[in-house]
Amino acid sequence: MSLRGNKAVFFDRDGVINEKLPEDRYVTRWEEFRFLPDVFRTLRHIKSRGYLIILVTNQRGIARKLMTEQQLQNIHQCMQAALELHGCSFDRIFYCPHDIQDHCYCRKPRPGLLAMAEQYYRIDKANSYMVGDSAGDVEAGRRYGIKTIRIGTRDATADYSVGRLEDILNIVT
Ligand SMILES: [Mg+2]
Ligand SMILES: [Zn+2]
Repeated sequence: MSLRGNKAVFFDRDGVINEKLPEDRYVTRWEEFRFLPDVFRTLRHIKSRGYLIILVTNQRGIARKLMTEQQLQNIHQCMQAALELHGCSFDRIFYCPHDIQDHCYCRKPRPGLLAMAEQYYRIDKANSYMVGDSAGDVEAGRRYGIKTIRIGTRDATADYSVGRLEDILNIVT
């Protein structure tokens, strides 16, 4: 770790790491979790370039009682085990279990989930990125004070917009 701290890439989960289910449906069991293409290769490269990789995910299915916190943790344990086989598990996972009307500080677009990393690391914000497929991911990254990459849509509010996850390898160097 340098004096400036750790550079990190924060990733959204649904629609970035795994296939998103149709609106109002949530991944509630490992059997429903499908990795998107090129996830292993991309994460492995990012790690090899010296970045921490940190997952930050809104999971209001918990507040809505569509799944329990234990179910979510089971999914993440299985996900980490699968990533580990490819040498690219996440260094930390932070999730927001709240609903919109809870007005918590952690639900993206608020930056609280990202700030949780500071309990464990000194984050070198000037050299860190937020990667997501929604406007709320970009806003959370911007409010936290790091560079932002929007996947799948051109986004004027993001520092970069790319078509596919693997394209971030040209940016996060
Ligand atoms: Mg998403
Ligand atoms: Zn929250």
